[in-house]
Amino acid sequence: MRDVELYRQILGLPEPWCVADVKLDLERSRIEVQVTHPEGLRWSCPQCGKELAVHDHAPERTWRHLDTCQLQTLLRARVPRVECAEHGVLQIMVPWAEARSRFTLLMERWIIDVLQQCATVSGACRLLRLSWDEVFGIMERAVRRGQARKRPQVLRRLGVDEKAFRKGHSYTTIVSDIERSTIEYLADERTRASLEGFYASLTPEQRDGIEAVAMDMWEAYLQATNAGVPGASRKIVFDRFHIMQHVGQAVDAVRKAEHRALRAEGDDTLTRTKYLWLYSRENLPDARRAQLRALLGQNLKVARAWAIKEALRRLWDYRREAWARRYFARWFCWATHCRLEPMRQVAHMLKRRLDNILTYCRLRITHAAAEGINSKLMAIKRRACGYRNPAHFKIAAYFYCGGLDLYPR
Ligand SMILES: [Zn+2]
Repeated sequence: MRDVELYRQILGLPEPWCVADVKLDLERSRIEVQVTHPEGLRWSCPQCGKELAVHDHAPERTWRHLDTCQLQTLLRARVPRVECAEHGVLQIMVPWAEARSRFTLLMERWIIDVLQQCATVSGACRLLRLSWDEVFGIMERAVRRGQARKRPQVLRRLGVDEKAFRKGHSYTTIVSDIERSTIEYLADERTRASLEGFYASLTPEQRDGIEAVAMDMWEAYLQATNAGVPGASRKIVFDRFHIMQHVGQAVDAVRKAEHRALRAEGDDTLTRTKYLWLYSRENLPDARRAQLRALLGQNLKVARAWAIKEALRRLWDYRREAWARRYFARWFCWATHCRLEPMRQVAHMLKRRLDNILTYCRLRITHAAAEGINSKLMAIKRRACGYRNPAHFKIAAYFYCGGLDLYPR
C-alpha cells in the first residue's frame, strides 16, 4: 500500500478529497499530508448549499491532526472558493474541520478529552505539545459551541452564590443548577444587575418553572430574585451554609475581643483557637476534641457563643415550619440575652430574615449540593495558574462545570 493510500484511509477522507502527497520531516518529528481534490467538480455554497463551479482557491491552510506514530501530523490543503450570486465569494466547508479552526475535528475532540482529564492546563499543553493560547482557544470554541446548542430547559432548583476571583479582587456571581450540579451563569460583580442578567436570559416558562432558589442573605440578590421569579417570596431559601457562616463570624468576633482582653492580663488561653470554635461539632478533628472539651469547662465567653452557634444547627432538623419557628424563638431569646453583642446582632438579623430561612422546611434545598460545584471551581483555580483574567476563568468554569456538549460534529 502506498503511503498516500494509507493516509487516505487513516484520515478517513470522504470523496472527493484524496491524499496527494505525504512528507516525512524527521528533523521536526513531523508528517505533512497534502490533501487535494480532482478538478472540474462543483461545490456547495456554505450558506445556501447551491452547487457551483470553483471560483478560485484560497491560499494553503494547515490543520493539526492527531499524531501518527508520535509524529506531529499536519494536513495541508487549498480550499476551493465558490461565488454564489446571493452570498458572494466563500470558502467551501471542509469535512475534516470546523470553519476557521486550525485543528481537525478528531484533534479537537482529543484536546477536549485531554483537558477534561488533566489536573492542570499546562499539563495538557505539554502532553499535546500545544501552547496555552492554542489550548485556551479550543476551550473557548468548545464553550461557544456548547452554549449555542443549549436548549432552554426548566431549572427547578437554583443556587446563587458569589465568589471572589482572587483575594481582595472583585466578585463573580455564580448561578448553579442544584439538581444537575452545573454552572448555568456567571456574571461580574455581585450587584442586583449581575443576577438580573440571568433571569432576563430565561424564557417566561423557565422563570415560572423555578421552584426554589438557595442564596445568601444578600440584599442585591434578594431584589433581583423578587423581580425576576414569580412568587419569589415562597421560593427563596436563605441558605444554611451561609447562615452558619454569619453566625461563625459572630463567634469569631466574640473570640477576638475576649482574646484581646485575656492577653492584656498575660493569659494565652485563646491563642491559636480561631478554627476550633468555627468547626461544627461533628467536623472537629479528633486531635482537637480534648482541647475543646478543656476550654468549654472554663466559663469563657467564646464558649457560650459557640454553644449558641451549635444549638442553631438543630433548626434545620425540623420538618414542620411551626416547630422550627418555635425552636427559633427559644434560640433567639437565648442569643439575645447572652450579653454577647455580636451574637445578639446576628440573632436579630436572622429574625428579620426568618420567613425565608424557614422556607427550608418545605423546600429542603441547600447549597451543600452545590458544594460539588464549589470544589470543582477550586480545582479550576488550581488548574488555572494561567487564567490571567476573570474572562478566562469564566470560560474555564463553563468548560468544566457547564454540563455543555463541547465536541465538534
Ligand atoms: Zn449561497
